[in-house]
Amino acid sequence: MDLHIHSMYSDGAASIDEIARKAKERNLKIIAIVDHSVEHPKGLNERKARKRKIEIEQAESKYGIRILDGVECGILEDGKIILPKHDFELVIASVHSIVPQKEMYRRLKRAIEEYDFHILGHLHAGIFSLDGRAEEYDLEILDLLEETGKALELNTHHSAPPEETLKLCLSRKITYSFGSDAHTVSRVGDLDHAKRMAKIFLKNGRFILDEMHNVDG
Ligand SMILES: [Zn+2]
Ligand SMILES: [Zn+2]
Repeated sequence: MDLHIHSMYSDGAASIDEIARKAKERNLKIIAIVDHSVEHPKGLNERKARKRKIEIEQAESKYGIRILDGVECGILEDGKIILPKHDFELVIASVHSIVPQKEMYRRLKRAIEEYDFHILGHLHAGIFSLDGRAEEYDLEILDLLEETGKALELNTHHSAPPEETLKLCLSRKITYSFGSDAHTVSRVGDLDHAKRMAKIFLKNGRFILDEMHNVDG
């Protein structure tokens, strides 16, 4: 399962069909296509989301795999997330703005507390980090994830979250998910880093789709 893939419907290079074919080749049983949301210049709007859904359904029946119709939205000012009008099956929320540490944590907390989504994407991805992390605030974020049942993503592309944050998860019953964050077809299913991290740090955790499916792909 790879729950974080971008297609040509936002800033990815691959079509839905190419992604599904690669997933089938790699023996993945479930994937999620999560193009960026409306705040991104190439993001999904209502019309694109509708069109993409049709292609997703066609690819599902052509390749016999489950493809979740998803979106990755940015966590904006005040923790706000904005989605086009569409019934998404999976919503990932991630920080894509480079803001001071205090502001980043403020946004993260408000988003987790006040908005509906399934997965917190690439926490502390280096490329979006201005002045790093702080353990005391990480603990608050992890508490909130546990309380709300939102999942923590293990993201291969960004090698996120960093090990220092994952260490704090060791004894927690946190829900987690795997994402390659592939923007090209060759990276679909590239989960080595994410799986290694889960084995070490999330032994007590539970995979987000476990209750829905018997996932081994
Ligand atoms: Zn992202
Ligand atoms: Zn992404």
